[in-house]
Amino acid sequence: MVMLTPKRSLLKVIVLGDSGVGKTSLMNQYVYKRFSQQYKATIGADFVTKELQIDDKLVTLQIWDTAGQERFHSLGVAFYRGADCCILVFDVNAVKSFETLQIWHEEFLKQADPSDPEAFPFVLLGNKVDIDGGNSRVVSEKTAREWCALKGDIPYFETSAKEDYNVEDAFLSAAKTALVNEHEQDIYYQGIPESISETEQGGGGGCAC
Ligand code: GDP
Ligand code: MG
Repeated sequence: MVMLTPKRSLLKVIVLGDSGVGKTSLMNQYVYKRFSQQYKATIGADFVTKELQIDDKLVTLQIWDTAGQERFHSLGVAFYRGADCCILVFDVNAVKSFETLQIWHEEFLKQADPSDPEAFPFVLLGNKVDIDGGNSRVVSEKTAREWCALKGDIPYFETSAKEDYNVEDAFLSAAKTALVNEHEQDIYYQGIPESISETEQGGGGGCAC
């Protein structure tokens, strides 16, 4: 029997980090190409999708944003479940948001519980590099990269959701690393009988909307 590689992938990407670092703005810039200066707490949002092509593969990125519950670190298991990549975001002008990354990283691994935590794909974004021409930044690129190295060489991007700087590249990197991870999971699950994966998909059988 010839095994065909699936030509279409659905990847779940979640965006984590302190409130106010620009998670929603980055997502809006990437998906809708718009930026709003106004601060609006996200309400009730689950995810948005974006189609892209990586090599010969059609990829649907399902990007999950928080609805403001990150303030209480209470995102709920559905948010984390089945994530293929985790984008961590901090604000280069706010040292606290950089320090909290450690907690978000741990929280993610605890809640999502990936089969191989060491190899799970993360991407780090240092956002708002546009502010004050960089004069108000308190976390240097070097410090951020050192943290990434400690965490197993996480890709790092300096971004501005406002000026659309590096946003596309950052999400593309997330998609690519998620694809690699998905492929490895396929290999890992190859031996599991179909009946098991069917019950796993269960979830009530119908649409939960
Ligand atoms: P979230 O709580 O992490 O989702 O953050 P938001 O996306 O709601 O952004 C919080 C505030 O920061 C808003 O007022 C945004 O307009 C602003 N903001 C987000 N990203 C940037 C950026 O790259 N540059 C600047 N100057 N402001 C930004
Ligand atoms: Mg938000």
